[in-house]
Amino acid sequence: MKEEKKTLKTKVKTLGKEFKGFAFKGSMLDIAIGMMIGSAITAVVNSLIKDIINPPIAKLISGMDFSQRYFVLGKNHFESLQAAQESGAVVITYGNFINAVIAFLLTALVLFLLVSWVGKLNKKEDKKEEAKTKKCPYCKSDVHKDATKCAFCTSELKK
Ligand SMILES: [Zn+2]
Repeated sequence: MKEEKKTLKTKVKTLGKEFKGFAFKGSMLDIAIGMMIGSAITAVVNSLIKDIINPPIAKLISGMDFSQRYFVLGKNHFESLQAAQESGAVVITYGNFINAVIAFLLTALVLFLLVSWVGKLNKKEDKKEEAKTKKCPYCKSDVHKDATKCAFCTSELKK
């Protein structure tokens, strides 16, 4: 009985240690920060779509709101979608589905454009960084492109 208690105690202890390692690891913090940035970006993208992109598109396709398109299962006819839904009929609101698909496609397009634009910016930055350094032929470290002596292994470098 005593021994059993001991093993349980050590088990709890190792579990605690493992949990500590899991919850307070640097990578966990990275993920948390990533998620926070992600939700912040989501807010920006949502605003971009709702406030900037949707108004002109709404004007462009005015009269193309599909949310009032629906299909009632059964023989009854209803004046409006609301009347159909209130009567408890089985209503297939495929218009909402079409709206959701259009919203998704527009969002994906905007995000694609945004991502490819940011990707181009990053590429330009990389090129700038590259031009500033050269590789030391002796120790393969990155040194300034105008350096005549390697900062890492002190070898003489050709211009
Ligand atoms: Zn070197």
